[in-house]
Amino acid sequence: MIKRSPVQQGASQRAWLITYPLAVLALICVAVFWAADPEWYLRALPGVLFFLIYLLAYRDVFTIVIWRGAFTIAVTDVPLVLALYYLPPVAVILVVSGAILVDQLWSGSPRTKMAFNVAKSAAGNSVALLFIAAFPRYDAADPAMWAILAGAALLASVVEFLSLAGVLSLVQGLQTGMGALRAGWSGFAVNGINIIVGLVFLVALGATWWSAILLAILVAALLLILRSYAEFFRRHQTLADVYELTQAVRDESGRSGLPDVLLGRVRSLMQSEFATLWLAPQGRHPEVLLTARVEHKGLLDISPTPEAVRARAVERQVGTGVGAKFASTEDLRAGMRAARVKDVIVIPLRSGQATIGTLEVVNRLGDARTFRETDVQVLETIAAHAAVAVENSRLVDRLRYDAYHDRLTGLPNRRRVTDALAESVRVRAEDEVVAIMLFDVDGQRNVNESMGHAAGDKLLVETADRIRGIADPGALVGRIGGDEFVVTLRAPSIDATIEIATRMRERLRGPMAVGSLTLDVNTAVGVSVYPDHGSDPETLLQRAELAANAAKVLPYGVQPFHPALESRAVRRLGIAADLRRALDNDQLEVYFQPKVTLADRHVVGVECLARWVHPAHGEVAPEDFVAVAEHTGQLARLTESVLVAGLRRCRAWADAERPFAIAVNLSARILLDSRFPELVRELLDEHGVDPGLVTFEISEPGMLSDIERVLPSLYRLRDLGVRLSVDDFGTGASSLAYLRQWPVHEVKIDDSFVQGMATDSGDLAIVRAVIGLSREFGLTVVAEGVESELTLELLEEMGCELGQGYLFSRPLPFERLEAWLNAQTEPESTPTGEVRRLRAVI
Ligand code: C2E
Ligand code: CA
Ligand code: CA
Repeated sequence: MIKRSPVQQGASQRAWLITYPLAVLALICVAVFWAADPEWYLRALPGVLFFLIYLLAYRDVFTIVIWRGAFTIAVTDVPLVLALYYLPPVAVILVVSGAILVDQLWSGSPRTKMAFNVAKSAAGNSVALLFIAAFPRYDAADPAMWAILAGAALLASVVEFLSLAGVLSLVQGLQTGMGALRAGWSGFAVNGINIIVGLVFLVALGATWWSAILLAILVAALLLILRSYAEFFRRHQTLADVYELTQAVRDESGRSGLPDVLLGRVRSLMQSEFATLWLAPQGRHPEVLLTARVEHKGLLDISPTPEAVRARAVERQVGTGVGAKFASTEDLRAGMRAARVKDVIVIPLRSGQATIGTLEVVNRLGDARTFRETDVQVLETIAAHAAVAVENSRLVDRLRYDAYHDRLTGLPNRRRVTDALAESVRVRAEDEVVAIMLFDVDGQRNVNESMGHAAGDKLLVETADRIRGIADPGALVGRIGGDEFVVTLRAPSIDATIEIATRMRERLRGPMAVGSLTLDVNTAVGVSVYPDHGSDPETLLQRAELAANAAKVLPYGVQPFHPALESRAVRRLGIAADLRRALDNDQLEVYFQPKVTLADRHVVGVECLARWVHPAHGEVAPEDFVAVAEHTGQLARLTESVLVAGLRRCRAWADAERPFAIAVNLSARILLDSRFPELVRELLDEHGVDPGLVTFEISEPGMLSDIERVLPSLYRLRDLGVRLSVDDFGTGASSLAYLRQWPVHEVKIDDSFVQGMATDSGDLAIVRAVIGLSREFGLTVVAEGVESELTLELLEEMGCELGQGYLFSRPLPFERLEAWLNAQTEPESTPTGEVRRLRAVI
């Protein structure tokens, strides 16, 4: 008979659902058999002998433990066959049940379990006896009797087995019960052998009672042989299990599920209530404490192991067992009782010389069972493999972490962001978009260049923290490039995304202490969304980057992607060489746009604007070819060619007694070139132009991004006597207060505000404030982009001095400007000479 793990501790009252019917069945049978054979006790004397044999069998005397108690071959079928033949039915039931009862009382089983085991055996034997009663009784030497006895014994096993499976299902869940059922059928082979041995005994004893002596010797010898086989089998099985475990651990070692696999397996292998993995804190890895518990899905982050036991194992660096079977750790047992722990084994996990943690099992399952020395060895074998696996997996973890995170900020890197995007796209709901907001930190490169990389890193870390701090909890924040951060989340729509981006950008702004300096952090945000702007993460990111680049020149700094951006960028790539050729061949043109005083409509000067007609692409926007020039080392030549064209005209106008000032745009980058002011001085000399007639316009965002390094050039230019103007004012992050500190003479309010002021009260307020403060600081205010009468009136009212825009004239080539001047203006004499005055109020 195979005795499977007995009903585990914590067996609940549900077991009675099966115990009671079994008991009732057995009692009815006893009553029936008693009635059929009232004098049974007269032939029951051999029952005493059977009682003793059974008792020994249940006390494991004849038992061979095959695998750590999971499968125990008990030879109870051998005496059963004999008892069924020699004893009266009532005696069979009482003797076997009595032996089990004594055994259970002896080992102190809980009542539920004891009752079940007694009822189960009584019911099994009752069914076997009913089976026998259905047939006539034959002689022990008759094969018909053998068949009847074998059938009866098997039936008893089946009833007991099904009862056990039933109770396991009720108490430990259906799965355990089904598992027992599946595993159990193979055990019937052993039953069969036991039954055959019993029948051989029967035949031998039928021939002569003297054969009992021979049989006893045979039994003893068989027991010895089987025991040693069991030991061999146990070792083999341990190896096989450990191998299987380490294999599973290795398969799992890349994933986070490693502890789950390891602990789940260790727990079931060691048949313990708990299995715990403890890893000491190490570097940036915090302490790990994870526990698998029987009948519990997932891991707990507690451990029942008494601290003292773990400390002992770690200190002595040996596997340490504490419990009834371990004499050397007697001193630790008091603490165990307090912690309600029956027995425990703690094995140190080593990596080289260092102990990196422990593997622990607590509470051997089964009331009568407890860990012993051999269990320590088994767990040690497992631990040796686990130590390698854990160390490896940490390595893997670290590699994985580094592969997917930016080292500086700890944020997910581009690879990780790409993966996450793909995932978001997959799980996105029909009415959602996957939003990508790309934050480009303004002036990062300049901080690196001017203050060193440590400062630049600090700026990035601080920015990363800020973005993380303000991002939606559901958003993923990553760093995908030097100064590019990305925030991705699922949002209801593009508009909602732009709103979120605008809000975030606002909250990101503000001074940031880097070293001794306080920098104003500003970002440009590019937005792209799935599915509108692309179907794969790479495209979406690229397009967000493109949009972010475009956003840098916007007053509100947030730009959603649109296809025009792309064609522009693609074109830019191709035109670098063409631009060089154009500069070589003097193919760039310069257009002039008049600047007009608002109070008396005098044309006082012109802004020189570069124009380039590409042989294939046609007209190229100045923003585009200026950017190309910046990135391909042609900026100085471009600037010089425009400046020279402007100076030439300026000289000519002066010669014609009609002095016009000229304004030339400077890319802030040219100011980083320390030779530039000198070049200006030379060109002014060469053309004999009064420096006071020349204004350089420098875009505010560009200037601000590197003000520290731009300032020296600005001072040198001012010292030459030329005028300096802050172009596109309002689109950068500078406060009006800066204007006083910079060596500038003029402020050009960006056309976006000027164009908005007639309809937008916010724009109007900005324009009013800029005009007010500029005048207070003694700066000239120019409004660019004046397109309507209404705007003009408003500007006049507010005291703006100069205007420029389509309302007066578009930028014009030199000849057409001359024609315009002749047609639209008339000369007016002033104390300083003749000026051109606009003829009619347009
Ligand atoms: P900007 O300095 O702000 O130039 C003013 C731009 O506004 C010009 O565009 C002009 O054509 C346009 N504009 C003038 N009046 C109006 C108006 O009433 N309404 C509207 N909607 N627009 C008006 P443009 O010529 O395309 O130049 C664009 C930008 O390119 C300039 O902005 C300037 O930053 C840059 N740029 C142009 N020429 C040069 C150059 O020689 N060197 C450098 N570094 N940059 C240049
Ligand atoms: Ca300008
Ligand atoms: Ca502008």
